[in-house]
Amino acid sequence: MKKILPFSKEKVLGIIKKYPTPFHIYDEMAIRKNARRFLKAFSILEGFKEYFAVKATPNPYILKILHEEGFGVDCSSLPELLMSEKVGIRGEEIMFTSNDTPAIEYQKAKQLGAIINLDDISHIEFLEKATGIPNVICLRFNPGTARKGTDIIGKPEEAKYGLTREQIFEAYKILKSKGAKRFGLHTMIISNELNEDYFIETARMLFELAVEVYQKTGIKLEFINLGGGIGIPYKLEDKPVSYENIARGVKNAYNNIIVKNNLHPVKIFMECGRLITGTYGYLVTRVLHLKHTYKNFVGTDACMANLMRPAIYGAYHHVTVLGKENDPYNNVYDVTGSLCENNDKFAINRKLPEIERGDILVIHDAGAHGFAMGFNYNGKLRSAELLLREDGSVAQIRRAETVEDYFATLDFAGVKNFK
Ligand SMILES: *Cc1c(COP(=O)(O)O)cnc(C)c1O
Repeated sequence: MKKILPFSKEKVLGIIKKYPTPFHIYDEMAIRKNARRFLKAFSILEGFKEYFAVKATPNPYILKILHEEGFGVDCSSLPELLMSEKVGIRGEEIMFTSNDTPAIEYQKAKQLGAIINLDDISHIEFLEKATGIPNVICLRFNPGTARKGTDIIGKPEEAKYGLTREQIFEAYKILKSKGAKRFGLHTMIISNELNEDYFIETARMLFELAVEVYQKTGIKLEFINLGGGIGIPYKLEDKPVSYENIARGVKNAYNNIIVKNNLHPVKIFMECGRLITGTYGYLVTRVLHLKHTYKNFVGTDACMANLMRPAIYGAYHHVTVLGKENDPYNNVYDVTGSLCENNDKFAINRKLPEIERGDILVIHDAGAHGFAMGFNYNGKLRSAELLLREDGSVAQIRRAETVEDYFATLDFAGVKNFK
């Protein structure tokens, strides 16, 4: 898909005067429009709800925008639960999907009235001890060899997530006997998938399992959570999914399986992250150095601490050289960061216009799993996050880390007063 920017070079130069590079900037208008389009398409499913995966873009300003648009949140840790609480999201607007979960996280989720999604049959007893069995409970299903999965999550049978088929029936029986009243079923087996049929196939698989759950346990599921994992068009040749096609496919499967087996109504939930914010966030960075050795290197003031998808997944992120969009793409570069790791590259052998020191690069599709995956290895500091408001103004929604932040957790003589 063609890459477009919501700001001009002049606008970015103005922003940089106040907020130095590197920074992430999110486009509020585009996020809201996409959220509305998404909900409109899926509104053909009765009781549909999207729980935004907080881990994709864990910033309270972003959560607030999405909550205003009618989204709930999918949390996976104590800080994510606390952030959601601060934004004013509570109760069953929170799905708590975690794994290898500490007791304190179950306790906080229960206190907030969140829907708890169990990752393992042994967690029933663990949860009971930690907080008691709640009224409403969800189970995460892992289909094993029945499905094939993708690179990021891997083959389901090798993934650490979820209960096996046999455990699912057993777990519902135990939960019912321990007093749970309302039940949900969940799966999440793919990531960044652009094949619409794959989601419809996942829905069908869960609907069929719901029928079997009813036959084997007498439990009528209240909701089915199809997980996240819908992809975005990172590459120019990628085609975005059609929300309408997926919604229609899920609805057909629902009619053919859930309705036919007299299990209607079952609410359909999703917990997409990437699809909601990924396309609408940009990493803006300045060129510090040009280096010509066995290859041509462009050294930026950002690094994989700001966006590590290219390094860990070999992911493609489109790069625009601001103001040179119409120049010939005659040069081949590796676009790098400053980390002492040779995989610290945003692009490898990328055809780009001729780059000069001081040029501003925009790295596209960094709005999800971008800033969020940041880290401090090599003493690298996380950048600021900015929000391009609907009226064109720019707000800083998280300041950049400072050296003081980096030292804040150390208690070594005088190290905090390093100056
Ligand atoms: C990561 C994750 C998501 C969101 O995935 P996206 O690819 O961003 O849509 C949803 N649910 C669970 C359980 C996850 O781990």
